[in-house]
Amino acid sequence: MKKTLLIASVIISLSGISFIFFRLYSSLQRDASVTLADLPVNLDFPADREEFSVPTAVPILMYHHISGYPNDGNPSIYASLWSFEVQMEWLSSHGFRTVGLDYFRNPKKIDGKPIILTFDDGYQDAYTQAFPVLKKYGFLATFYIVTDDIDRNGYLSKNEISEMRSAGMNFGSHSLSHPDLTAASQRRAEREIYNSKKILEQVIGTTVTDFCYPGGAHNWNVENIVANSGYTTATTTDNDVVFGKIDPLRLNRLNIGNETNFDDVPALKNL
Ligand SMILES: [Zn+2]
Repeated sequence: MKKTLLIASVIISLSGISFIFFRLYSSLQRDASVTLADLPVNLDFPADREEFSVPTAVPILMYHHISGYPNDGNPSIYASLWSFEVQMEWLSSHGFRTVGLDYFRNPKKIDGKPIILTFDDGYQDAYTQAFPVLKKYGFLATFYIVTDDIDRNGYLSKNEISEMRSAGMNFGSHSLSHPDLTAASQRRAEREIYNSKKILEQVIGTTVTDFCYPGGAHNWNVENIVANSGYTTATTTDNDVVFGKIDPLRLNRLNIGNETNFDDVPALKNL
């Protein structure tokens, strides 16, 4: 009996030790995959948060896929090419002019009503479907990229991003791997937010100032990491137009799906 107990406890301790080694090995593997790990030294300090005053409402539209949606897809994150073209035509004929997210910091006089177009997740249909329509209407947009997905099947490639950038499109970070940043460890959240900025900057060749919270998940701590990493704006998935006193790290957006008819969206129609 004693012998059995002894053998059992040896097996339990050995499996415990190998589990610890496995965890250690996995975390080292993860670290090894990060090529730009120079985190800023002052991440612990709270960011200097400023508010902006936005006297005229500025809608930020949130798109994901521009394509027909699969049967198992979520229709709210798909707009068909046809719907998207109708929506862009509506904006153009109703006097909207696209601006970038820097508009809140440097509002310039524009000939029309300002609107911001954003596309989340860096799907390849941003290049094949959305980009030609945007060019046709002389519109610009901001594309939020999950940097681990660059060059993956179904996602934007480095070359496509460069071509879109040369045509005036903006790019922001949507983290390295799209985790819930409010549930991630501090170290991981810092890496997701800061390293994705550095990687994207290498791809587009300019400074990246715009961030988008994966899944819309944000809290005070995540917002401070975003600010301290050098971003000046961050968008949420909370449904509202940007108006009045605003925090540039909590910019709300209007989700646009396949069925969205802009005549039925008071936030757009009444502007
Ligand atoms: Zn996303």
